[in-house]
Amino acid sequence: MRRLRKVKIVATLGPASSDYQTIRALFEAGADVFRLNMSHGTHAEQKARYDIIRQIEADTGRPIGVLADLQGPKLRVGTFASGAAELEEGQPFRFDLDEEPGDGHRVCLPHREIFEALQPGATLLVNDGKIAMKVLECGPDFANCTVTIGGTISNRKGVNVPDVVLPLAALSDKDRADLEFVCDLGADWLALSFVQRAEDVIEARELARGRSAILAKIEKPAALNKFDEILAVSDGIMVARGDLGVELPVYTVPPIQKRLVRKCRAAGKPVIVATQMLESMIESPMPTRAEVSDVAAAIYEGADAVMLSAESAAGRYPIEAVATMDNVARSVETDPTYREVIEASRRAVRETVADGIVAAARELAETTDIKAICCYTQSGKTVNLVARERPRVPIIALTPVQSVLRRLCLTWGVHCAYCEPVDRFKMAVVGAARIARAEGFATETDQILVTAGVPFNVQGTTNILRVAPCDERLIFRTDPE
Ligand code: PGA
Ligand code: MN
Repeated sequence: MRRLRKVKIVATLGPASSDYQTIRALFEAGADVFRLNMSHGTHAEQKARYDIIRQIEADTGRPIGVLADLQGPKLRVGTFASGAAELEEGQPFRFDLDEEPGDGHRVCLPHREIFEALQPGATLLVNDGKIAMKVLECGPDFANCTVTIGGTISNRKGVNVPDVVLPLAALSDKDRADLEFVCDLGADWLALSFVQRAEDVIEARELARGRSAILAKIEKPAALNKFDEILAVSDGIMVARGDLGVELPVYTVPPIQKRLVRKCRAAGKPVIVATQMLESMIESPMPTRAEVSDVAAAIYEGADAVMLSAESAAGRYPIEAVATMDNVARSVETDPTYREVIEASRRAVRETVADGIVAAARELAETTDIKAICCYTQSGKTVNLVARERPRVPIIALTPVQSVLRRLCLTWGVHCAYCEPVDRFKMAVVGAARIARAEGFATETDQILVTAGVPFNVQGTTNILRVAPCDERLIFRTDPE
């Protein structure tokens, strides 16, 4: 089974998508990676979803990526005596550490570190920015504010503090427990929420001990200021537009999205554009024109993946939402303008042998009639570099390392295929030709490209580029051992 598009689709699982039938239908409609959102649900529920995904893998013979998204240090207010309070513009309001239920004058904000980092003049946003306050005066256990945008504040609503680098541990106790759980379960990607600095990523990587690749969610102004450092230590990035659009003016998000997508592509690391892509499809089987344009824009920009959140996790039309993304992708990717934009934004990198090989592979694939670029890989690195070139033809990733295959499900244009370990180049070429034919990319009379590293099964050795026939008899006659 092969996808007829390059961009990947990430679908979040939740109450609307937890049984085999629905998850299988999401996969068949086009989901390449499933996201388990650790902000919701129990470990038992996440494990049940995980097991279903692996069952579908076994039943279809196709690798599927699993991305476990940790909640991160999300700040929340305590509770209210009557469940909620109405706040009016201009009124005073106090946050403190007192666990007594709140009212229209005060509420508990059970995060001591916040009070230490706050300064008069800082903004506090509650409930996705629907309520805003300015800090007038603060001490180690309180902040007196004035309400600048009023509204209803209620139990356990989220709080954002955009202007301050919070002295928060990147991982809460809950995150640490969740991290251990999902790494053991077999999550291919670990997404970190509210990353502020490169050290946050490094800390999670140490805890993951190679069990999962690490993806940093960019949703804080502090992370934007340190983006290059964060990208350097991450395996992938999510443009988390939900919280980003709360922490920064929402109209600054599109240029940020464009900039981050470009930087990730230049670094050869996958990038996901996330949140509210098809928001109206939570309730409606038809997207709005604006949503379709938003998904299309992310694809034209060259994102590796587009993501569904509540649309697939809790909406009424999860399968239709995936199918919509698939349709938009196919429509954009067959537009000649898409190729022009993608090619114009390619940056030549000439640092390593692998850089030269992947550039040459794309060049060759565009010069002659080549059906696929087949890459033997141990770590996935070369495959991500080929994807950075955004070639016209499909990229086939070949590796016996199942975790690498599953991680590559997130990368633009890559078809992942399991292969037996090879130790001779001739057998590698034969194996690539067989898979290209079996999976419908080529016929006996076609040609493919094969990249590999000799000696085999060593990381970081890509040093061969071979234009090969798909006819095994020819390969046996012509290729060296
Ligand atoms: P969330 O992250 O859905 O976990 O909040 C994505 C975002 O903020 O956009
Ligand atoms: Mn978020």
